[in-house]
Amino acid sequence: MRRIFIITISIIFLAVPTLMAQQKKEASSALDKKVDALIAKMTLEEKVGQMTEVTSDVVSKSNTDPHQLDPDKLKEAIMKYHVGSILNVTGHAYDRKHWYEVISQIQAAADKDRLKIPVIYGIDAIHGVTYTLGSTLFPQEIAMAATFNKEIAHQAGEITAYETRASYIPWNYSPVLDLGKSPLWPRIYETFGEDPYLVKTMGASIIKGYQGNDIGDKYHVAACMKHYLGYSYPLSGKDRTPAWIPDRYMREYFLPPFAEAVKAGAKTLMINSGEINGVPIHASKYMLTDVLRGELHFDGIAVTDWRDIQYLHDRHHIAATQKDAVMIAVNAGVDMSMVPYDYTFFTYLVELVNEGKVPMSRINEAVHRILKVKYELGLFKSPVGNPDDYPKFGSDEFRSVSLQAASEAITLLKNNNNVLPLKKNSKILVTGPTANTLRSLDGGWSYNWQGDLADQLAVGKNTILKAIQQKIGKENVTYQPGASFDQLQNIDDAVSAAKNADAIVLCLGELSYTENVGNIDDLSIPAAQTQLAIELAKTGKPIILVLAEGRPRIVTEAESHSAATLMTYFSGNEGGDALANILFGDANPSGKLSITYPRYTNSLNNYYRKNLENGNPDDKHGYNPLYEFGYGLSYTTFSYSNLHISKPDLKSGETLSVTIDVKNTGQLEGKESVLLYTSQLYASIAPDTKRLRAYDKIDLKPGETKTVTFKITPEDLAFVNDVSKTVTEAGDFKLMIGDQTADFKYISNETPSRTGKL
Ligand code: BGC
Repeated sequence: MRRIFIITISIIFLAVPTLMAQQKKEASSALDKKVDALIAKMTLEEKVGQMTEVTSDVVSKSNTDPHQLDPDKLKEAIMKYHVGSILNVTGHAYDRKHWYEVISQIQAAADKDRLKIPVIYGIDAIHGVTYTLGSTLFPQEIAMAATFNKEIAHQAGEITAYETRASYIPWNYSPVLDLGKSPLWPRIYETFGEDPYLVKTMGASIIKGYQGNDIGDKYHVAACMKHYLGYSYPLSGKDRTPAWIPDRYMREYFLPPFAEAVKAGAKTLMINSGEINGVPIHASKYMLTDVLRGELHFDGIAVTDWRDIQYLHDRHHIAATQKDAVMIAVNAGVDMSMVPYDYTFFTYLVELVNEGKVPMSRINEAVHRILKVKYELGLFKSPVGNPDDYPKFGSDEFRSVSLQAASEAITLLKNNNNVLPLKKNSKILVTGPTANTLRSLDGGWSYNWQGDLADQLAVGKNTILKAIQQKIGKENVTYQPGASFDQLQNIDDAVSAAKNADAIVLCLGELSYTENVGNIDDLSIPAAQTQLAIELAKTGKPIILVLAEGRPRIVTEAESHSAATLMTYFSGNEGGDALANILFGDANPSGKLSITYPRYTNSLNNYYRKNLENGNPDDKHGYNPLYEFGYGLSYTTFSYSNLHISKPDLKSGETLSVTIDVKNTGQLEGKESVLLYTSQLYASIAPDTKRLRAYDKIDLKPGETKTVTFKITPEDLAFVNDVSKTVTEAGDFKLMIGDQTADFKYISNETPSRTGKL
């Protein structure tokens, strides 16, 4: 009886997803028909209009404060050019009421056009809703990744989607799925770090949070994975400069997060502004059609990045005219152009179709994808949304999730003699250029593009200084900046204040920046900041170094003087409070580095480097970071034991079950991210030293032990070989978790390629 019951249950469990998949398929094909019926009624101009995205400046009055739409410009955009999409804002963040007016006016204008097709408004809500006052701002992705907590990434996605819809906007240009491989690149803080598996898994979690089960419900939005593909690894390190990335590496490191995002159902994608191996991605049929559609089976919208079709002519010089640029990009597979300032794309594309240079089938395909997402978002039924539906916007409930994320992200890198946590009755000097500004907590894309208005607009949020004052009382805290970002400022006052303090909280790092504005010529922290550390160290007082920065600036000299070091990344609006909780023992840190923290400017390896050092740490080819990817301390201690693998030989189709016991051997409750790596000892192409294959985050009470289980399949051990094929080759493997290792073999009938092809 019991057996029959179990079988019945299993059948139900197996049948339910199949049934749901079937229902989804049928609904989708019904929707496809509806979309086709609408397309059949559209003129060429109406179709090309759908493919046109302009920025809100184009439909706004110039230089008005507060911002105002311009009804005449809006009418022209909709009635003359049938514009399908508008993005972003001028100036800075608005309140919800203003957003309601803006979106209502736009949709009302769209409703007057012949076919009444709603506009899809898109925005960069990349760590919470950037452009709405009072929203919940989370840690940036690089910090989110340091939590190693997929659940919290998912929650942040849910909340951001809710607050984006509460701003009446259905389309979010997030997440960034670029691999944070180079600390020189100014957008590394927008990434989930350097590891492809971490980027892939965190990315998929946040997408599921953004989109939920149905992007048409009033609490979810369409995600936009970006920037496809290889944007993050420009040769010079500077934003939007050329990259050289061989196809094999593209597939090994950069593609998997996008492939996973497609599987997770991401509805839209934004294209890399750069060129790779001389080919701008906006002109690459191989990337935009063969790989994206043919291999990944992505069927959503591919939108350009900012002005990128025009750049094919005036930056990349692969199109002799602006019109050629439109032809090349649309024929390569672009569905929508973020033009963004004029209607030239519209005019040229209409001409190109009439001249037979862009086939109507390409236009219909693009418009189909755009209209389908508009239907799925429910825009035809409810183009604006109801202001009363979002009582939780900016609520304490949401804020507490951001606080938890920041608290799990902040990474304790050093804690000599357990100098931390500090006593709440200590006298503290707070100093350094990042101590009293929200710009160094929020980073870019906060209230405006560069995040430079955060101190005015993050009302009620605490800088590091304010959070410490609140925690231990103003009377216990002295503040002396000592230095601006790159200049000394009354350093003597800081030094003399240090003499009267029990400990110095020295906050170094960066101010906010975004995209090319963040390009730098030197990864080292500016000399003034190092100088401040050196002078303060002479007082002999313990320095608690806080690094509030979007990328790992070289701080080796300054850091050599610290008793404790904490990396806060750009940890969001609650970052100050989260840090104060950690400094004074109200929270136990559990972040682990999502990037390698380099020691030297000329040694910027990732942890998954090749085996160059051959076991000799003095080898000058070696990996000698200040702190390794995955490193992070706690106020308690954990021990790892009993690593067990289910079999010594793994064959195709089998799963390796891995268990490990993790014990909290200290006095405090704490969270621990358990990271599983594997190394293949020999392979047909030089294997990486090790690669992250799985992770989990657990919570342990003092003395408690938990057994963590991982499942590893041969596919998890695969790599892209020298003929760009993903293979798992037979051979010896080492598996590592904490200080425990186990050896196993993978047995396969396939013979390795070994063609030696470059
Ligand atoms: C950025 C994108 C962003 C877009 C719209 C571009 O400059 O590269 O990440 O989504 O602007 O704001």
